[in-house]
Amino acid sequence: MIIVLGKASEKQVQQILDKIKEKGFKPHVIQGSQKTVIAVIGNNAAAFIEEFRQMPGVESVAQVSAAFKLASKETHHEKTSIKVGSEVFGKGNIGIIAGPCGVESEEQTLNTAKALQPLGVKFFRASIFKPRTSPYDFQGIGLKGLEILEKVRSQYGMAIETEVMDVRDVKPVSEVVDCLRIGARNMQNFDLLKEVGRQEKPVILKRGLSATIKEWLMAAEYILSEGNNKVILCERGIRTFETEARNTADISAIPLVHLMSHLPVIFDPNHSTGRKDLILPLSKAAIAAGADGLLVEVHEHPEKALSDAKQQFTPKEFAQFLQEIRPIAKAVGKTII
Ligand code: PEP
Ligand code: MN
Repeated sequence: MIIVLGKASEKQVQQILDKIKEKGFKPHVIQGSQKTVIAVIGNNAAAFIEEFRQMPGVESVAQVSAAFKLASKETHHEKTSIKVGSEVFGKGNIGIIAGPCGVESEEQTLNTAKALQPLGVKFFRASIFKPRTSPYDFQGIGLKGLEILEKVRSQYGMAIETEVMDVRDVKPVSEVVDCLRIGARNMQNFDLLKEVGRQEKPVILKRGLSATIKEWLMAAEYILSEGNNKVILCERGIRTFETEARNTADISAIPLVHLMSHLPVIFDPNHSTGRKDLILPLSKAAIAAGADGLLVEVHEHPEKALSDAKQQFTPKEFAQFLQEIRPIAKAVGKTII
């Protein structure tokens, strides 16, 4: 249920909030530029529509049909923009997040950051935990990688993001990084979603390997319903019968998310395809389809990478890539940041 406020006084707003809590529901206040809306979360809240409609300060009350209420456009008509570090995702920007698949060593990470900084990259990605299909493959260097990521920020001024895979790591990682990432394999790890939902830092939520868009938005709902409203969705390709590419890049998910949700959505061309030769054309398509950003893997020496060696750009290839996507961003009236 959503309650749209008219010219409500502070006291009236408080009375509405008190009543919501008294009934055992959770209120979420959404401050729009035109109107203030309170989303009421809880089972059977719709049974009280009439009661809330009568309260002073209430303009209208409506039932929300979407199962994902806070993520839905029904509760939040304006597009949400999210600050990561000192820059904003959404709002006509295309945020470029670049960096290696994994933190392998201090030297490899800092060398990559050093090469990316002069290209204007403001967001650095690198995983310290690697969710690998085989337990014998490189698993990431773990929490000690945080110090290396901190050096990336202090030496090169980039905001840093990394994946969390375990509830126990969320707090220590969240204290250091500017943005958390939930990987595709954990999109429905509900305890993990709730834990990142209790943090202040923005969260990039990747779409699960075989998740529908609704399931993905429901996963975002878990984070939002815990109080963290800074969720950036990331399309990273889905499983289909096609085998030429590692996954099938679902470009249609980008405009669909914009039709169904107010949350920003970015695109990961590397994990979508697993092929270097598909990164540029699909990134162009994603920008044209309305993506709010790209998550791109760049490694100082991709051929030596401990994970995803085939799909990572060298810094030089990435510089060329940036040149080629700029005109597409311009054509859709957006700025690359
Ligand atoms: C990643 O971005 O490092 C990653 C592992 O991607 P995904 O979760 O999409 O497979
Ligand atoms: Mn990777």
